[in-house]
Amino acid sequence: MNAEASLYFRFAPNIAKGIARVSALRAISNAGRSVGKIITINATSCEMLRGAPHHVKYEAYDLSVRNLTDEQVIAVIASLQASGFTAVDERTRPSKATLWTGPHIHIYRAPSLCKG
Ligand SMILES: [Zn+2]
Repeated sequence: MNAEASLYFRFAPNIAKGIARVSALRAISNAGRSVGKIITINATSCEMLRGAPHHVKYEAYDLSVRNLTDEQVIAVIASLQASGFTAVDERTRPSKATLWTGPHIHIYRAPSLCKG
């Protein structure tokens, strides 16, 4: 098997059921490959995360930064931005976010994948 076929993402074991597009998983995998790390996806789209609509209004994913250095986080963000995502670095609690659940990268793009 060549390296190009390896997946550089995994879903967290406790992930809620949501929606993930193949193109997004490919972009996340490419970002992981660029730094040689497997990216853990903690949340996908159309989940109401503690009552917050951020993953409903847009196609959105939360990515763990637990196994990434600061330099790797920057590189992962750049890779995902090149793939058309807006990335929000939430390694530290955003001042307005009362629903922050821990260090992660929140990525999103339009349109929403959710009905209604
Ligand atoms: Zn999020």
